[in-house]
Amino acid sequence: MHLVNADLHSHSDWSDGRLAPEALAARAHANGVELWALTDHDELGGQARARDAALALGMGWLSGIEISVSFIGTTVHIVGLGFDLDDAALRAGVAATREGRRDRARRMSAALSAAGIEGAFDGALRHAGNPDLLSRTHFARFLIEQGHCSDMHEVFRRYLTEGKPGYVPHRWAALGDAIRWITGAGGMAVVAHPARYRFTPTEEYALFSEFIGHGGQAVEVITGSHSAAEQITYAGVAQEFGLLASRGSDFHAPGESRTELGALPDLPGRLRPVWEALAHRVLHAG
Ligand code: AMP
Ligand code: MN
Ligand code: MN
Ligand code: MN
Repeated sequence: MHLVNADLHSHSDWSDGRLAPEALAARAHANGVELWALTDHDELGGQARARDAALALGMGWLSGIEISVSFIGTTVHIVGLGFDLDDAALRAGVAATREGRRDRARRMSAALSAAGIEGAFDGALRHAGNPDLLSRTHFARFLIEQGHCSDMHEVFRRYLTEGKPGYVPHRWAALGDAIRWITGAGGMAVVAHPARYRFTPTEEYALFSEFIGHGGQAVEVITGSHSAAEQITYAGVAQEFGLLASRGSDFHAPGESRTELGALPDLPGRLRPVWEALAHRVLHAG
């Protein structure tokens, strides 16, 4: 059976990636991606350009988004795939989720100022392609540019995670709302990079149980931040919970992201790919 090189998780400069949707599409295509989704954080602005670029290159395309959710005090990311771009409830939901970012960024800047780092708000904004989508990634790029840290990993560890000087807690969307925005628009909800959350087994069980209870149907098994052991763990989770499996690099920028677009192991053969269940939502050229 021909295995599809699907990359269903990536970011453009509409959120915290560095490339425009067209450049990202070209890079995905050059790397052999056959089915692609742009999944900007809480933002749909790049979708039409991503679709046009993908189709012009002959790649299959699915609409995509990565919605920020707060679940039992932890930020969890829910990827949505194959939804209707014009759905009003989805658009309103992600706009509301996005809204708190500017105020959070002001507070992050104040917190960094108290730690002796001035000008972080304007500095982060200079790195942002979309002023409505100020992300910790943009603060990280500013802190690296200013010589406070040498790479992304260090800057998150020293400044931007819980308990560190530039971290400000934030309340994102509710899990059930994010899932309903996606499924209500005809798409499928996917738990993004599950190994990143560091949940206890009980908490993780609660996440997947509630996710399924609200209508979620898939989990990222193969993603840029999963180790080989984590791929095996979440392949097991997909089977145990009867979830479809997804695959995506979570590519953000050349030289910054560890995993290139499309450069991922295949899904384990016993799992059902989410894109098979979304075949009716995939757009192809012509
Ligand atoms: P935000 O949505 O503004 O809280 O920013 C979250 C983004 O920061 C994620 O989507 C990643 O792109 C990035 N990020 C989070 N943790 C790390 C890390 N440890 N190393 C590199 N990037 C990270
Ligand atoms: Mn990101
Ligand atoms: Mn994420
Ligand atoms: Mn992502």
